[in-house]
Amino acid sequence: MKVLGMKHKDAPDTALLHDLRKALGVQHVLTDTQAQAKYLTDWRGLCHGRALAVVLPGSTEEVAAVVSACSRAGAPIVPQGGNTGQVAGATPDHTGEAVVLVLSRMQRVRSLDVENATITVEAGCVLQHVQEAAHAAGLLFPLSLGAEGSCTIGGNLATNAGGTQVLRYGNARELALGLEVVLASGETWDGLRGLRKNNTGYDLRDLMIGSEGTLGVITAATLRLFPLPKAQCTALVAVASIGLTGAFLSRCRAGFDASLTAFELMSGACLQLVAQAFPQQRMPFTSIDAPWYVLLELSDSESASHARERFESLLGEALEDGQIIDVAIAQTLAQSKAMWHARESITLALALDGKCIKHDISLSVSAIPAFVQSTDTSLQAEFPGVRNFTFGHLGDGNLHYNVAHALGTTDADLLARQPALSGLVHDAVHALRGSISAEQGIGRQRTNDLQRYKDPVELRMMTAIKQALDPMGLMNPGVMLSPSS
Ligand code: FAD
Repeated sequence: MKVLGMKHKDAPDTALLHDLRKALGVQHVLTDTQAQAKYLTDWRGLCHGRALAVVLPGSTEEVAAVVSACSRAGAPIVPQGGNTGQVAGATPDHTGEAVVLVLSRMQRVRSLDVENATITVEAGCVLQHVQEAAHAAGLLFPLSLGAEGSCTIGGNLATNAGGTQVLRYGNARELALGLEVVLASGETWDGLRGLRKNNTGYDLRDLMIGSEGTLGVITAATLRLFPLPKAQCTALVAVASIGLTGAFLSRCRAGFDASLTAFELMSGACLQLVAQAFPQQRMPFTSIDAPWYVLLELSDSESASHARERFESLLGEALEDGQIIDVAIAQTLAQSKAMWHARESITLALALDGKCIKHDISLSVSAIPAFVQSTDTSLQAEFPGVRNFTFGHLGDGNLHYNVAHALGTTDADLLARQPALSGLVHDAVHALRGSISAEQGIGRQRTNDLQRYKDPVELRMMTAIKQALDPMGLMNPGVMLSPSS
């Protein structure tokens, strides 16, 4: 079945550009190569594309006008938010036919309903601004990730982003109650409702969330808010082996229940890399010599002293039992921030180290220790000297299993071996009934993996949905489903 865009031979690019300029104003239709440049490369600088135009609509009506014009001209549309995605889903292909539709001008908070505990924002709102707007009203928007100063709500929903608070609050899907979406037809679906219950047929909202711009353009969302915790405790804990992290997580879940808001795993190698890349950062331990670390956060709804008592008592017991070997509890907000900063700097430290091969995998929490041990060993046997930088949201069973070049070799040596290396990792994940994309999506970079590992029945259902909602195949072609699916 083909889902390729079909370019209408009688629709010259000039007519489309004319329509776009008429709808948005000349200044919001970028055709100059220099002005377009930052929108045509992915965050990691691995993937580069070309575009007929980069457009910056300022309202839902303007998005609908762009989509309608592209539909008439048969031009592909690539939605883009903050361009922080890890799988190049917001980068156009090389043909130069696409229109990149950037939502950064759509930043309005449309409403905040304290009683309903919801906020309605436009898709181009930067995640951090949504957190700040909620906080100003005495509420919490809990989605939190390293790119929160740049990524947008539209991108978060289109990728069903995860981040560090999924353990307690769920991923982006769980946080969205309603959506407004411009469909491939140019129609606007107004599903912006703050309802927690609505059983009136297929869940179209859930279909759009995680669709990576392949079914429509998200223009606004109504999001759930939560009470702000009264107190939070943060600790960095050293663990002697990955085998012990599962039991420690079970202890924390049993002891803290819903108050456990983060349980982030980092290998010692990751923290050493951060210390090396950013020597100005204060590390909680004077030497980083344990093989594994866990960044732990407790959010308490009673008081600071209640939080502290629970935290110290559980960590003390875990130390006594030998489940953990060292612990640094943040005494101040600044120390807590420094711990989080170290965790969130891993991605940047890796980027400075070179172009590592990334795997964003999901497994049952109980399967993780055996997976890491056996896959690390197999990698060394097949690709001697490669360096593992494994970290992730252990509480969600999500690992960022990153592999960097062996010392003395180059990025190019490593990248040449990517298919075999990633095949080894993903085969091991598949054998354990895990997922090859936990939170980052498929984008342009994992389409072959999706074809290889996704159940054929699931793939046929996905292709049927794509055909039904985007029959001309104009919404982000080449992303998620390969054109020949
Ligand atoms: P973009 O990168 O612009 O786009 C991503 C995809 O969504 C593309 O396919 C694009 O076409 C589509 N899209 C964007 N906006 C819309 C829209 N309005 N309508 C329809 N489709 C749209 N991700 C996590 O899940 N968890 C993490 O912990 C995490 N940590 C990160 C840390 C760092 C330092 C960095 C750089 C990235 C991290 N990411 C993480 C990845 C990234 O931040 C998320 O995928 C984020 O949700 C992307 O948002 P964005 O606005 O940048 O989207």
